[in-house]
Amino acid sequence: MNERIPQRIDFRRYTDQGVTLDGSISLEESGTSMPRLNDAVLENTGDIKYHLEFDTDILGNRFMTGQVLAQVVLQCQRCMDNYTLDLNCDLSIAFVQSELAQKQAEESNYDIFWLAKKELIDPRTLLEDELLLALPQIPMHEESEIGKACDVRVTFLEQDDLMADDDSNSHSIEKEQNDTDNPFAILKQLKK
Ligand SMILES: [Zn+2]
Repeated sequence: MNERIPQRIDFRRYTDQGVTLDGSISLEESGTSMPRLNDAVLENTGDIKYHLEFDTDILGNRFMTGQVLAQVVLQCQRCMDNYTLDLNCDLSIAFVQSELAQKQAEESNYDIFWLAKKELIDPRTLLEDELLLALPQIPMHEESEIGKACDVRVTFLEQDDLMADDDSNSHSIEKEQNDTDNPFAILKQLKK
């Protein structure tokens, strides 16, 4: 079943009725409704799939569990090439409107979503939050891709060449420094 995601939901009604939402957010829709996600990635490559179940538990927590899946393109900070990353977030979020409810929800190990009294939720914003949290702080290819997809183009010199270069370089640098340190050398340059 693939239904369009509602733009506003009353979490009380949804959790009372045990509503399930299943479907996907099209590229076109996420383009306008998830601006923060689109700013954070180079490209969002397709539909964002979601499965969300609203319910209440025995303690009276009103919560939503489920999954959101997306595929984004990021720039690897190791090789600077673009790569595709699958985001797969498991959700377990309690809706709270008081500190008491928050404390209880935290004790039950839910993530917390605070909202004002009578406030309606745009589930797209909520899913966007979760996807943003799932993005790596420093985007990089997997370790296993180093030398394959993640190819850092560095030419390694032979160790002997390096040592030889080092020697001659340090001499010439010293010489240059002496020249500029010498006031007569500067005078000579001025006269030219
Ligand atoms: Zn890379």
